[in-house]
Formats: sequence, structure tokens, C-alpha cells
Amino acid sequence: MTFDADQWLSVLEMAHKYDMAGIREIAIQELKNMNLPLPPVKQLVFARRYHCDELVDPPFQALVARKETLSKDEMAQLPLDDLHRLIVAREKPFLKLMEERRCNKCHLNGRWHLKCWNCGQLEAAPY
Ligand SMILES: [Zn+2]
Repeated sequence: MTFDADQWLSVLEMAHKYDMAGIREIAIQELKNMNLPLPPVKQLVFARRYHCDELVDPPFQALVARKETLSKDEMAQLPLDDLHRLIVAREKPFLKLMEERRCNKCHLNGRWHLKCWNCGQLEAAPY
């Protein structure tokens, strides 16, 4: 018997509805083995709705690494805690770029946002 991801989701939904713990575990295990079988936002929403902590990480990591900004529609679907955690994780490298550093050209300390605030140099000293 081979189910695809959407079929296992239906199984999980039913197992949740009728409180069938054994079947629920099988469905979660099958979905887990597929790693990231659904579009990330869909999988994350689903994992939260049916309390499947095991299915949270792959979509979360995919969304952290994604190059496009989340759409308003995607943001509206996510629980606030996940949305917050996601934004914190996504903006972390950019905040790092804005930390105070010393310019290796004009040697002034200052906050950086991609370039030196004073002389426009693009690389900071590495500390
Ligand atoms: Zn400078």
C-alpha cells in the first residue's frame, strides 16, 4: 500500500478526528520519512494543527532559507509564534551585517549596513 503525502494527510486528519493514536503515529512516520512532502507553509500549518512536532523542522528550515519574502497570504496562515520565530531567524544574518565594526579603509568604528557609514567602503575588518 503506497499513499502519497496528501493521502497520508487525510489519514492523519481522520486519526486525529477519531482519536486513533496508532494510525496517527504511522501517518506521522510516513510523512516524516518523506521529509518535506508538501509546500513548506502548508506542511507547517498542518503540523501545528495536528500537533505533529516531528513534521515542523523541515518546512521551517526551508522557509528560513527561502530567497523570496513570505507573501501576506502565507504570513496570515502561519501561527504567530512560528511567524515570529521565522522572521527572527531570517533577519539574523542581516542584523549581523549592521553590527558595529571597524572600517579597514578609514579605520572608524561605526554601524554598518553593507558599507561603511563614513567612507562607503564595502568590507569591514573581520571582528
Ligand atoms: Zn570607512
